[in-house]
Amino acid sequence: MKAKDILKQMTPYKPGKQIEEVKKEYGLNQIVKLASNENPFGFSSQVKDQLPKLIAELEKYPDGYAAALRTKMADFINVEESQLIFGNGSDEIVQIICRTFLEKGANTIMAAPTFPQYKHNALIEGAEVREIPLEDGHHDLEAMLEQIDENTRVLWLCTPNNPTGVHIPKNKVKNVLDRCPPHVLVVMDEAYYEYMEADDTFQSIPALDQYKNLLILRTFSKAYGLAGLRIGYGVASSEVISTLEPSREPFNTSTIAQAAAILALDDQTFIEETTNENIKNKHALLSFLEENELGYYPSEANFVLVHLPISGDEMFEHLLSKGFIVRSGEALGIPHSIRLTIGKKEDMEIIQSEIKERLLGIP
Ligand code: PMP
Repeated sequence: MKAKDILKQMTPYKPGKQIEEVKKEYGLNQIVKLASNENPFGFSSQVKDQLPKLIAELEKYPDGYAAALRTKMADFINVEESQLIFGNGSDEIVQIICRTFLEKGANTIMAAPTFPQYKHNALIEGAEVREIPLEDGHHDLEAMLEQIDENTRVLWLCTPNNPTGVHIPKNKVKNVLDRCPPHVLVVMDEAYYEYMEADDTFQSIPALDQYKNLLILRTFSKAYGLAGLRIGYGVASSEVISTLEPSREPFNTSTIAQAAAILALDDQTFIEETTNENIKNKHALLSFLEENELGYYPSEANFVLVHLPISGDEMFEHLLSKGFIVRSGEALGIPHSIRLTIGKKEDMEIIQSEIKERLLGIP
């Protein structure tokens, strides 16, 4: 057997600790997971009520084209149906983009650290990965633009960026799009779009009319609370989408995921209420951090990267022993930090006092 050489240097994706694992290890009954940026309020009850009915469809293959969801989504965001691609999570669309555009001799440009699947998939395709360090949590866009040459195929903008939560203001996104040559696909990953509250958020969907080399990634895994169903989508010009389509598996999104996404879109009250609650809890966390003189990156997402005077691993272990799973910054490329998903108010209050106890010895 001979696998691709690059795979020898790569490790499979390592998710955060799982709830059952921690329960066993620490003998705890109750665990709160604030590690994967999931919605602590779950998903719309309209989806919950209809899910059992969908099981009757399972002996049939799904509609590979996701026609009903396509019509619904095209109407919801006001684009043509031919401008959409659905994936088994937006993870799969990242993979499809890399399969389509990247190969040996090509290069791709991204921030570091950012969402790790861009690099992972690009390396598997044999492309050169040009990583540009963040500047105080922000994309260094000038340095990214300078890296473009005739072999550049994809430039990734993650906004808000995972793991920092920092967004790219609209004038800066526009500047990148204006200066990016047409042979470079600009991917704007907006996995946390629904949580954004900044006035200077770039309105990416209307910009598709002007920028034919722009692709937007969104997901039902975060604000819509459907991470377990695996469904995300890409929006771009019809030309970009039809270029991607041959790289997509024929039945990549399940019948249940497609139907749940339609039902979830119909319940915008759930999205509004839960994102507002989440934003409120985020601001409460930021006030706590300021009161205790802990640094953080200004987050437009449903998580905050908190700077610490101790290592991220130490804080991670402390919180784990108290029943909270978070992500240590050590694993995310930002030492002396943790990435904290915003949870329910009552859980946030407890975790804040646990952080304080560990740092100041004040219960
Ligand atoms: N992009 C970003 C920035 C993310 O943080 C994530 C999930 N952590 C994804 C994409 C992938 O999400 P999913 O595959 O669940 O749609």
